[in-house]
Amino acid sequence: MEVGNAMVVRFNYTLTNDAGDVLDASAEGELMTYLHGAGGIIAGLEEGLEGLKAGDEFDVTVAPEDGYGVRENVYIKTLNRSSFPADADVVEGAKFVVPMMEGPRLSTILSVDGDDIKVDGNHELAGQTLHFKGSIAEVREGTPEELAHGHAHGPGGHHH
Ligand code: ZN
Repeated sequence: MEVGNAMVVRFNYTLTNDAGDVLDASAEGELMTYLHGAGGIIAGLEEGLEGLKAGDEFDVTVAPEDGYGVRENVYIKTLNRSSFPADADVVEGAKFVVPMMEGPRLSTILSVDGDDIKVDGNHELAGQTLHFKGSIAEVREGTPEELAHGHAHGPGGHHH
C-alpha cells in the first residue's frame, strides 16, 4: 500500500535544519501517525511522503513556504510592560500569547528595555528550511470513522 489520500501513515523521523542541528525527532519506539490529505502534518512533508510504502526511507527537504512559513516583520512588535499581567515573568525568552493582526499568537520576548517589551510572534521554525529523515513503518487505509473525523486514531493518533 502506498502513502496517498485517505491512508493512515505511521513513521519515525528526525528533523534537522540547514546547519544540521536536530530540531525535533519522534521518540524512540514511538511513531508519528497521521491521516494523509487531512492537513495533519505540514504540507511539504505530506507531499514528500506521497507514494512511499512501509519500509521505505525518506529524506524530505521542506522550504519555509511549505513548512512553518517565512519570518514576517509584522509579527515583531514592541509592547508596553502594562500589556502583560503585573505578576508575569517578563524576561527575554519567555513566551506569551500576544494579540496580533490576525488574532492571538504565541510569541517569544526578544528583549526587555525598561517598559518596552519586544516580542516575536513568528513560529520558532519559521524561515527555516527543514530536513525530515526517517522511514515509513506502516501504511493502511483510513477507517470510515477516521475519514469522518479527519484524523488518525490508535497509537500515535487521537484517543477519544
Ligand atoms: Zn476521531
